[in-house]
Amino acid sequence: MPLQVHQFACLNDNYGFLVRDEATGKTGCVDTPDAEAILAELRSLGWGLDLILNTHWHPDHAGGNARIKAATGCEIVGPQEVTRIAPLDRPLHEGDEVRLGETAFRVLETGGHTLGHISYHDAADAVVFVGDTLFALGCGRLFEGTAEQMWASLQSLAALPDDTLVYCAHEYTAANARFALSVDSSAVLKARADQVFAARERGEPTVPTRIGLEKAANPFLRAPLLRVGLPPAQAFAEVRKAKDAFAG
Ligand code: ZN
Ligand code: FE
Repeated sequence: MPLQVHQFACLNDNYGFLVRDEATGKTGCVDTPDAEAILAELRSLGWGLDLILNTHWHPDHAGGNARIKAATGCEIVGPQEVTRIAPLDRPLHEGDEVRLGETAFRVLETGGHTLGHISYHDAADAVVFVGDTLFALGCGRLFEGTAEQMWASLQSLAALPDDTLVYCAHEYTAANARFALSVDSSAVLKARADQVFAARERGEPTVPTRIGLEKAANPFLRAPLLRVGLPPAQAFAEVRKAKDAFAG
């Protein structure tokens, strides 16, 4: 039985995700950007909460853990680094399986934005929750990890099937598209950027995206094609540096 994903905007540009295993009604919450917003969504849907799945320790991802656990009694899983700011019941590592009723998430270590950042892949439903590692037409800033680490993380996501739905934690896509157009002139990117600008004009989300689309249009995944002659991780590092310096 499938996984239902309820996505909603919160804070400035975050997305909250409630995930429900339809077979059992077990419900999870991917990250806790805004405890009150998440509890309000749960109330309006009439759902309880069994599990918080954290991707990394940043306050807009784990800051609501304590409040939500107190309100619901849910379990909290995530990388050990979450304990820097918030409660965690069970630390996770590469290859671990997290069960939500009949749904199974496989843990991918996708460090780089933070050292311990993880992603959650549900292969049966072809969905992956990537936190701040991969964004639509972008990727997370390197706050703690190296370009080599982030490149390896992005490659492990790019290796997932093309039709995998990618749930990123922020609506950054229009700004990402403006940068992407400054470093890449591919027709696929131009078409995607037009769609993104139009969707944002209408106030519509551009998340989720898909792995296949990101492989074709995301300048960070395409870095070796945009900085020809460099080793892939170094090409990625150059594109990441260009984005950090991009003003437009
Ligand atoms: Zn973050
Ligand atoms: Fe974030």
